[in-house]
Amino acid sequence: MHQPRIVRIPIVPLGVVNSHLVVGDQGCVLVDTGVPGSHRKIEQALKGLGRSLDDVRLIIVTHAHMDHAGSAARLRQLSGAPIVAHEGDLPYYQQRKPMTFCATGWVSRMFFRTGVIVRPYEPFTPDILLTDGQVLDLSPYGVAGRARSTPGHTAGSMSVELDSGHAMVGDLLASGVLLGGLVRTQHARRPPFEDDPKAVAQQLQRLVADGMHTFHLGHGGPLPAGEVQRHAGWLGRQRPGRMYHAVATCRCDEAPADGSVH
Ligand SMILES: [Zn+2]
Ligand SMILES: [Zn+2]
Repeated sequence: MHQPRIVRIPIVPLGVVNSHLVVGDQGCVLVDTGVPGSHRKIEQALKGLGRSLDDVRLIIVTHAHMDHAGSAARLRQLSGAPIVAHEGDLPYYQQRKPMTFCATGWVSRMFFRTGVIVRPYEPFTPDILLTDGQVLDLSPYGVAGRARSTPGHTAGSMSVELDSGHAMVGDLLASGVLLGGLVRTQHARRPPFEDDPKAVAQQLQRLVADGMHTFHLGHGGPLPAGEVQRHAGWLGRQRPGRMYHAVATCRCDEAPADGSVH
């Protein structure tokens, strides 16, 4: 099996919102599906590689935020590929429960109030549902690597770890300004929302210890392991941000974080 190629699909240009395609010998694995209506952009990206939606063998959704899960149901319908996700975010994929959002800074709080992040998407039930620390071997889908639970950004967050040392970690961390991207893309930062910074820090440290050298992100990136490690060391000392509910905003007991700039 040759080393797969990783292709970033700009859902929003300049790295602001990314999906990724892992292109292997025997087909492609799509990691994240963008906001609702992103299926055409993903189809275009496949076309640019001389491929089509029929070549997508698996759809991995890293977590239930709408900029990652928003087009999953549509892409499953168009490609016939199964969706894999973690049970920790299942109530949100099925839209049975409103999400909560722990804002990591004032920009995130403003962003939450715009209502964009709570935009509903077509609900779905994953075909393959990972539980706890279960690991999914990706070799049956033509890719040398695995998908596994990396909780912290949300309870059900997942990452993809390739044997080549490339990892796709969704929103475990971001880089750049605003949502991520634009400028300062080599500088790691917290994403706009993050449930449990200590859990994220542990996962990032574990990924680096397991030999991951390049981290591909939902917003900004990619980042080298050294920068991820620096961020994880700092993040382990941070507290969760102020919590907002998707329906009615409220404050949780935690003190607000000291902002997302570091
Ligand atoms: Zn997210
Ligand atoms: Zn995101």
